[in-house]
Amino acid sequence: MDCIFCKIISGEIPTTKVYEDDKVIAFNDIEPQAPVHILIIPKEHIKSAAEIDGSNSSLIAHVFEVAAKIAKDMSLDGFRIVNNCGDSAGQTVKHIHFHLMSGRDFGWPAG
Ligand code: AMP
Ligand code: ZN
Repeated sequence: MDCIFCKIISGEIPTTKVYEDDKVIAFNDIEPQAPVHILIIPKEHIKSAAEIDGSNSSLIAHVFEVAAKIAKDMSLDGFRIVNNCGDSAGQTVKHIHFHLMSGRDFGWPAG
Protein backbone atom coordinates (compact mmCIF):
# COMPACT_ATOMS: atom_id res chain seq x y z
CA MET A 1 0.00 0.00 0.00
CA ASP A 2 1.36 3.41 -0.94
CA CYS A 3 0.90 5.09 2.44
CA ILE A 4 3.70 7.16 3.98
CA PHE A 5 2.52 6.49 7.52
CA CYS A 6 2.42 2.71 6.92
CA LYS A 7 6.00 3.10 5.65
CA ILE A 8 6.93 4.92 8.86
CA ILE A 9 5.38 2.06 10.86
CA SER A 10 7.34 -0.54 8.88
CA GLY A 11 10.56 1.49 9.25
CA GLU A 12 10.87 2.06 5.49
CA ILE A 13 10.72 5.84 6.08
CA PRO A 14 12.80 7.10 9.03
CA THR A 15 11.25 9.30 11.70
CA THR A 16 11.88 10.63 15.20
CA LYS A 17 9.87 8.24 17.31
CA VAL A 18 8.63 9.49 20.67
CA TYR A 19 6.45 6.51 21.66
CA GLU A 20 5.59 3.05 20.38
CA ASP A 21 3.61 0.06 21.57
CA ASP A 22 1.90 -2.85 19.83
CA LYS A 23 -1.03 -0.72 18.66
CA VAL A 24 0.21 2.84 18.05
CA ILE A 25 3.26 4.87 17.18
CA ALA A 26 3.99 8.55 17.85
CA PHE A 27 6.62 10.62 16.07
CA ASN A 28 7.58 14.25 15.49
CA ASP A 29 5.81 16.05 12.64
CA ILE A 30 8.25 16.89 9.84
CA GLU A 31 6.77 20.41 9.51
CA PRO A 32 6.04 21.41 13.12
CA GLN A 33 3.35 24.04 13.66
CA ALA A 34 4.19 24.40 17.35
CA PRO A 35 7.28 23.84 19.56
CA VAL A 36 5.85 20.39 20.33
CA HIS A 37 4.10 18.77 17.35
CA ILE A 38 3.74 15.02 17.55
CA LEU A 39 1.63 12.75 15.36
CA ILE A 40 -0.03 9.77 17.04
CA ILE A 41 -1.25 7.07 14.68
CA PRO A 42 -2.70 3.57 15.02
CA LYS A 43 -0.61 0.88 13.33
CA GLU A 44 -3.80 -0.36 11.66
CA HIS A 45 -4.42 1.52 8.41
CA ILE A 46 -7.68 3.41 9.01
CA LYS A 47 -8.25 6.06 6.35
CA SER A 48 -9.83 8.80 8.43
CA ALA A 49 -12.01 9.63 11.43
CA ALA A 50 -15.02 8.97 9.20
CA GLU A 51 -14.14 5.26 9.41
CA ILE A 52 -14.29 5.03 13.22
CA ASP A 53 -16.91 2.49 14.29
CA GLY A 54 -17.49 -0.22 16.89
CA SER A 55 -14.78 -2.39 15.37
CA ASN A 56 -11.93 0.09 15.95
CA SER A 57 -13.10 2.68 18.51
CA SER A 58 -11.14 1.06 21.35
CA LEU A 59 -7.99 1.60 19.30
CA ILE A 60 -8.87 5.30 18.93
CA ALA A 61 -9.49 5.50 22.68
CA HIS A 62 -5.99 4.06 23.13
CA VAL A 63 -4.59 6.86 20.94
CA PHE A 64 -6.03 9.38 23.42
CA GLU A 65 -4.64 7.41 26.35
CA VAL A 66 -1.19 7.60 24.70
CA ALA A 67 -1.63 11.35 24.13
CA ALA A 68 -2.26 11.85 27.84
CA LYS A 69 0.77 9.68 28.70
CA ILE A 70 3.06 11.63 26.34
CA ALA A 71 1.75 14.95 27.74
CA LYS A 72 2.44 13.74 31.27
CA ASP A 73 5.90 12.36 30.43
CA MET A 74 6.84 15.63 28.68
CA SER A 75 5.21 17.76 31.41
CA LEU A 76 3.21 19.62 28.78
CA ASP A 77 1.38 22.61 30.20
CA GLY A 78 -1.76 22.38 28.07
CA PHE A 79 -2.01 20.85 24.63
CA ARG A 80 -4.25 20.66 21.62
CA ILE A 81 -5.23 17.45 19.78
CA VAL A 82 -6.28 17.95 16.15
CA ASN A 83 -7.68 15.51 13.64
CA ASN A 84 -8.25 16.64 10.07
CA CYS A 85 -10.82 14.44 8.34
CA GLY A 86 -11.26 14.72 4.59
CA ASP A 87 -9.87 17.11 1.98
CA SER A 88 -11.94 20.14 3.02
CA ALA A 89 -10.62 19.80 6.57
CA GLY A 90 -7.02 19.69 5.30
CA GLN A 91 -6.29 15.95 5.63
CA THR A 92 -3.27 15.36 3.41
CA VAL A 93 -2.26 11.86 4.61
CA LYS A 94 -5.05 9.30 4.31
CA HIS A 95 -4.03 7.26 7.35
CA ILE A 96 -5.81 8.51 10.45
CA HIS A 97 -3.56 10.59 12.70
CA PHE A 98 -3.92 12.90 15.65
CA HIS A 99 -1.75 16.02 15.98
CA LEU A 100 -0.61 16.59 19.57
CA MET A 101 0.55 20.18 19.78
CA SER A 102 1.91 22.24 22.65
CA GLY A 103 4.40 24.90 23.65
CA ARG A 104 2.55 27.97 22.43
CA ASP A 105 -0.87 29.61 22.78
CA PHE A 106 -3.57 28.46 20.36
CA GLY A 107 -6.42 30.61 19.10
CA TRP A 108 -10.07 29.65 19.12
CA PRO A 109 -12.14 29.30 17.01
CA ALA A 110 -9.62 27.50 14.77
CA GLY A 111 -9.40 28.79 11.19
P1 AMP B 1 -2.77 16.34 7.82
O1 AMP B 1 -2.58 17.59 7.01
O2 AMP B 1 -3.70 16.49 8.98
O3 AMP B 1 -3.11 15.15 6.94
O4 AMP B 1 -1.37 16.04 8.49
C1 AMP B 1 -0.33 15.35 7.87
C2 AMP B 1 0.90 15.72 8.61
O5 AMP B 1 1.90 14.76 8.31
C3 AMP B 1 1.48 17.09 8.27
O6 AMP B 1 1.51 17.89 9.44
C4 AMP B 1 2.87 16.77 7.73
O7 AMP B 1 3.83 17.72 8.10
C5 AMP B 1 3.14 15.41 8.35
N1 AMP B 1 4.08 14.57 7.63
C6 AMP B 1 4.08 14.25 6.32
N2 AMP B 1 5.11 13.42 6.03
C7 AMP B 1 5.77 13.21 7.20
C8 AMP B 1 6.93 12.45 7.56
N3 AMP B 1 7.63 11.72 6.66
N4 AMP B 1 7.34 12.49 8.84
C9 AMP B 1 6.66 13.21 9.76
N5 AMP B 1 5.55 13.93 9.49
C10 AMP B 1 5.12 13.94 8.22
ZN1 ZN C 1 -1.33 3.66 6.20
